[in-house]
Amino acid sequence: MSYVDDVYAQVVAKNPAQPEFHQAVREVLDSLRVVIKKNEAHYRKQALLERLTTPERIVMFRVPWVDDKGQVQVNNGFRVQFNSAIGPYKGGLRFHPSVNLGIIKFLGFEQVFKNSLTSLPIGGGKGGADFDPKGRSDREVMAFCQSFMTELQRHIGPDTDVPAGDIGVGAREIGFMYGQYKRIRNAYEGVLTGKGLTYGGSLVRTQATGYGLLYLTQELMKCNGIDPEGKIVTVSGAGNVAIYAIEKAIQLGMKPVTCSDSTGWIHDPEGIDVRLLREVKEVKRACLTEYAKKRKKAVYHEGRGVWSIKCDVALPCATQNELDLKDARQLVKGGCRVVCEGANMPTTMEATAYLQEKKVLFVCGKAANAGGVATSALEMSQNSERLSWSFDEVDQKLKSIMVNIYHNIDDAAKKYGMKGDYVAGANIAGFLKVVEAMEAQGIV
Ligand code: GLU
Repeated sequence: MSYVDDVYAQVVAKNPAQPEFHQAVREVLDSLRVVIKKNEAHYRKQALLERLTTPERIVMFRVPWVDDKGQVQVNNGFRVQFNSAIGPYKGGLRFHPSVNLGIIKFLGFEQVFKNSLTSLPIGGGKGGADFDPKGRSDREVMAFCQSFMTELQRHIGPDTDVPAGDIGVGAREIGFMYGQYKRIRNAYEGVLTGKGLTYGGSLVRTQATGYGLLYLTQELMKCNGIDPEGKIVTVSGAGNVAIYAIEKAIQLGMKPVTCSDSTGWIHDPEGIDVRLLREVKEVKRACLTEYAKKRKKAVYHEGRGVWSIKCDVALPCATQNELDLKDARQLVKGGCRVVCEGANMPTTMEATAYLQEKKVLFVCGKAANAGGVATSALEMSQNSERLSWSFDEVDQKLKSIMVNIYHNIDDAAKKYGMKGDYVAGANIAGFLKVVEAMEAQGIV
C-alpha cells in the first residue's frame, strides 16, 4: 500500500465513528499523493502524515450550568489543539447540538491548512460544545459561556491558543466568554477574536468571512473571464457568513436570490433584501418566515432546496455536507459555473468530484472562507500593538490576502500538473508550509 493509503487506513482504525474527520483527512491526503510520491521514503520515515493527522492535544470537559427553571444542565466541551508549527493554535468555537469530538477534529484539521493559506502566523485548532443557544435566554447563554470558559481558560492564552466564533458563537457569546476569562486570569489580553469594537475587536471582523469569500470569488471569475455583473447567486445559510456574502455580492453587482436556515429557505427572485435579512436574523433572531412576511415576491419553503434554483454562482454558507451529488447535478443542469464554499466542508466528496468533472470552477472552504480567520489574525496584531486600524485598512488587507490565496492555490495546482483543481492547489499549498515548519522544528 502507498504511504497515503496506509495512513488513511490508520486514521480510520484509530478514530472510529468520526466520519467527518475521516472525510476531511481523505480529501487532503488524496490531494497530496503527487507531493508525497516524489519523496515517499522520507515522509514515511519521518511519519509526517501520522503527525499531521494526530492532534497535538485534545481537551474534553464537563460544562455544568443552571437554566432559567433552576434545572442543572450538563454539556460536553471540547478544544482540539491540532497543530502549532506555524503559530499559536487559532480557530473558532462551535456551539451546536451536533458537536462531538469527530466534528471538532474535522474542523481543527481543516483549520491547519486554511490558516497556513492565509500566509499569517497562526496554527490550527477548534473547539465547542453540544450546547444549543437557540431558544435560550441571554442569562442562560451567559451562564453556559461562563462555565465553559471557567475550564477553557486553563488551556488558552494570546500566545498559546486564541479561539473565536463559529456556528452558534457570535458577538454575544464572545463577550460573555471574554468577561469570564478576564475575571479569572486578571489579564486584559487578546485571547479571543471576534470581540466587540469597544473592547479590542477589529473592524471588518464581522463581515470578513463573507466579504473574503466574495473577494476570492471575484478574482477567480476575473481570471477565468467571467464578468460578475448581473450574475445570479444562490446562497445557503443565514448566519454571519451568508449575510455578509450576500451584502458583498450585491456590492459587486451580482444578484443573490436565496438563503436558508435550519427550518427552511427563501427564494427571492428580485434579489435578497440584505437589510431585512439582517433585521430578522441579527436583531430579532427569528425564523426566515419573518423575512417572507415582509417581502411580497419572496417565497418561503420548508426543508432544504436552495440548490434547485438556477444560478451562475453557488455559495454554500451553512454547514458541512449540505450540498450532495443530487444538488451538484441540479446546479450543473441549471448552468452553474462557479461554486465557492463559505462554510467548512459543505460539499460532499461525490459532489465535489462531479462538479470538478463538469468543469465547474470549485474552490474549497479552506481557501474560500479563510477571510474570517485571516481577519482574526489581524485582530491579534492590533491587540498586540494596542492600536486599532480603520475599516478601509483592514478591508484592503483582507482583500489582498484573498487575492493572494487565489493565486497561491492556482499556482500550486499548475505546478503539480493539476491546473484548475483548486482543491488540490489549496491542500498542497497549505501542507507545504506547515510541513516545512514541522521539519525545521524536529520531532516534537
Ligand atoms: N470559525 C471560523 C473558521 O472556520 C473563524 C475562526 C477564527 O477566526 O479563529 O475559520
